[in-house]
Amino acid sequence: MEFATKTIHAGQPSEPETGSLIAPIFQTSTYEQESPGHDKGFNYSRTNNPTRQRLETVLADLEGVAHAALFASGLAAENAVLQAYLRPGDEIVISLDVYGGTYRILNKVFQPLGVTVTQLDASDLTKLEKAISERTRLVWIETPTNPRLLVYDIAAICKIAHARSTLVVVDNTFATPYFQQPFELGADIVVHSVTKYLGGHSDTIQGAALAKDPSIFEPIKFLQNATGAVPSPFDCWLTLRGLKTLELRMQRHEANAIAIANALKDHPLVQRVYFPGLSEHPGHEIARRQMSGFGGMVSFELNGTEEEVVSFVSSRKYFTLGESLGGVKALVCHPATMTHASIPAEARAELGLLDTLIRLSPGCENAKDLVADLLEGLERLSEQRVSRKAVAASAD
Ligand SMILES: *Cc1c(COP(=O)(O)O)cnc(C)c1O
Repeated sequence: MEFATKTIHAGQPSEPETGSLIAPIFQTSTYEQESPGHDKGFNYSRTNNPTRQRLETVLADLEGVAHAALFASGLAAENAVLQAYLRPGDEIVISLDVYGGTYRILNKVFQPLGVTVTQLDASDLTKLEKAISERTRLVWIETPTNPRLLVYDIAAICKIAHARSTLVVVDNTFATPYFQQPFELGADIVVHSVTKYLGGHSDTIQGAALAKDPSIFEPIKFLQNATGAVPSPFDCWLTLRGLKTLELRMQRHEANAIAIANALKDHPLVQRVYFPGLSEHPGHEIARRQMSGFGGMVSFELNGTEEEVVSFVSSRKYFTLGESLGGVKALVCHPATMTHASIPAEARAELGLLDTLIRLSPGCENAKDLVADLLEGLERLSEQRVSRKAVAASAD
């Protein structure tokens, strides 16, 4: 079955009792048992629910594995993976530029429990190899990264980690299984913020964790039930609906991102554009190799003051200022004060995450409108500079 067909058919037969083409939301907490311990495969909705099960089946199918576990948020999914594999005294190696919440849960929750967190540039494979000790349980990478869209070589990293019996976790939120198949490249565990492209409509918070090997998946599945951060049936149903257009949406998101990257890259008010599809992007070659497209996100550094950055992101017509990404409606964000504010300023500087960086999540709007909105904002900044200069000159 091809990708788009899977998003619509995998795990989603018509509802058998009524023939309902789209299965209803199984909004129930519990299930009737015929006799004690004899049920129809469902006994309590924290443990399992038919709507959630449908979503888990299709997600697993899209990532090319047998199992997926759904959680109430991406971070709940991450927490289950970390809890399943990290004990006091263990180490985790993470790449630079991870999602701010990933940085926070590791440094504020797991480090105080006795876990050593080593953050490094995962494109430096020699450094990575040296950083993995016998206490390293997990190597955790995100690619493309948030917010600079750096690209790491999943296959090369897996080879190094596996030689030292260390598991590799890939956060596949930005690429989605449509553009990137981490398990094919050797990943052991994949996590998702389903909130983003998979749900795709900015109307639900959800996460997922998947593993190829059943024995690696089992402790995560256990924690899904044992710690209980599960999504509601309604949220799962919304994602089942959103997922059906994943391929169409990703194609449009990418086309919009390409149009925007091209429109911004030579603009005098733009210092630098980050988009893996640009040949000058440091991860371009790896992206071409390991992805089937470049994704839908674009970031850029404004050649301007902090005040100008704030004014630009606050006054767009179609790019709503807000956290999150991956929805049909375009969003703009200022990572330094929003998504990545939990990373201390010195650490941000070390990561090369500048205060002038702006992250764009083009939606499924028409590219012409999105590009015009951005160019207009830049034009307004130029005009303001000219008029400020004129005022300063007349005051002299
Ligand atoms: C948003 C995000 C997360 C966290 O997911 P939530 O659903 O917000 O908990 C993790 N990783 C990446 C790359 C994200 O963008």
